[in-house]
Amino acid sequence: FSTEPGDEEPIKPPVEVKYTQLLINGNFVDAASGKTFPTADPRTGEVIARVAEGDEEDINRAVAAARRAFDEGPWPRMTAYERCRVLLRFADLMERHADEIAALESWDGGKPLEQTARAEVPMATRCMRYYAGWADKIHGLVVPADGPHHVQVLHELIGVAGQIIPWNFPLLMFAWKVGPALACGNAVVLKTAEQTPLSALYVASLLHEAGLPDGVLKVVPGFGPTAGGALASHMGVDKLAFTGSTGTGKIILELSARSNLKPVTLELGGKSPFIVMDDADVDQAVELAHQALFFNQGQCCCAGSRTFVHERVYDEFVEKSKARAERRVVGDPFKKGVEQGPQIDGQQFKKILGYVKSGVDGGATLVTGGDRVGSRGFYVQPTVFADVQDEMKIAQEEIFGPIQSILKFREVGEVVRRANATHYGLAAGVFTTSLDTANTLARALRVGSVWVNCYDVFDAAIPFGGYKMSGIGREKGAYSLRNYLQTKAVVTPLNDPAW
Ligand code: ADP
Repeated sequence: FSTEPGDEEPIKPPVEVKYTQLLINGNFVDAASGKTFPTADPRTGEVIARVAEGDEEDINRAVAAARRAFDEGPWPRMTAYERCRVLLRFADLMERHADEIAALESWDGGKPLEQTARAEVPMATRCMRYYAGWADKIHGLVVPADGPHHVQVLHELIGVAGQIIPWNFPLLMFAWKVGPALACGNAVVLKTAEQTPLSALYVASLLHEAGLPDGVLKVVPGFGPTAGGALASHMGVDKLAFTGSTGTGKIILELSARSNLKPVTLELGGKSPFIVMDDADVDQAVELAHQALFFNQGQCCCAGSRTFVHERVYDEFVEKSKARAERRVVGDPFKKGVEQGPQIDGQQFKKILGYVKSGVDGGATLVTGGDRVGSRGFYVQPTVFADVQDEMKIAQEEIFGPIQSILKFREVGEVVRRANATHYGLAAGVFTTSLDTANTLARALRVGSVWVNCYDVFDAAIPFGGYKMSGIGREKGAYSLRNYLQTKAVVTPLNDPAW
């Protein structure tokens, strides 16, 4: 490897941490308990800042404030155009502060700055503009009914939305969740992930600068079982949106069921197939499969983590994937040209290395990597396994790290069956020059997104979500608006049905 980042002095991030408290009623305040928790730099494990630790009492305060903002405040009563303009001003402010936002995101999450600056921050900004555009285009219907009735279907606000986001794309998840909820006119209580509280606090302050009335958006950093659990079980929360692991998704659904049956949308884990046919350009396929897995240190719910390769191109593909992984530049996220930073924390780091051991013990061929990089922080070598079999743990479970598993197949029918033989159903990649094969696979795969000859295309207008245990509901696009609206039928008799 060109660098041993764990052994180098970390580069000083070009940003200061300004906000570390809970954002409630437009002000930054301490947690009711006065407790704080550390958020760490994945490059070293050292503390960046101590952040107010919200728990049940803070969630209660936040939900009560959100309820007031919804019942009495100006936000739901403003014209849709005024709401649109607040969100547009917010997007402008995000653009103006893009460098600081990107630096915070990279510092807290260990993500290469070039990637956060080029992808995550612009995508989050674009997402806010996309939903700003929807604000004044949300409306109901008049439906024809049997009998002499005038039937209106009103699309009303859902009320107080609870949102729980993960650490792998904190800023983008903020935009996917907060954008549609606010565009509709709802109030929001957002719980950030304990590993990455900083960017959401920063942009939430910009949202207030853009004119969001106090109390409409609360940001509560804190831990899952305490703050997250309190939000999911709160009787005053009208809707819950969650992104995270499938195991936690089940808990969230249960907490909703045990409390007030709030509707829940879940965006969960995956074990997405990336299928390479024998008619494909191998060099391009290798690069795309590499990006599909290694992007964001492999910490993507939709990572292409089962690379299925046709037997006729298999050996060449494995050889070239090995070379590509060995060329991958691992290093300090603030260094130019770095493609891969550290994993988020020690727990994930250990878990990933545990999967490497399981792959080796299970009989897969370790083609390259498999170890840590350097001696400090949470850097993992880009790792490639070949000869992976369907029943191996590394082919079944979500690893969430830079570990590529390559499997061999012979026919389309076979690969469809094997690709679908999982409880997950988030995404799939298909790499082929045959339109017929692309269409067949796109229809046969039981997943929420199929990328044909591309991967990880996350335009704000494209719906995203999972089949099976990868989730419930869709985010992005017009689909996300439905999550934040109630449907009311209003029926009035018609005295003169002719009209
Ligand atoms: P990961 O394993 O990737 O950290 P999690 O599903 O545990 O994924 O975390 C995603 C989000 O869910 C985080 O904000 C986390 O704090 C929250 N969370 C974790 N456990 C719970 C829980 N029991 N109840 C509510 N939220 C939780």
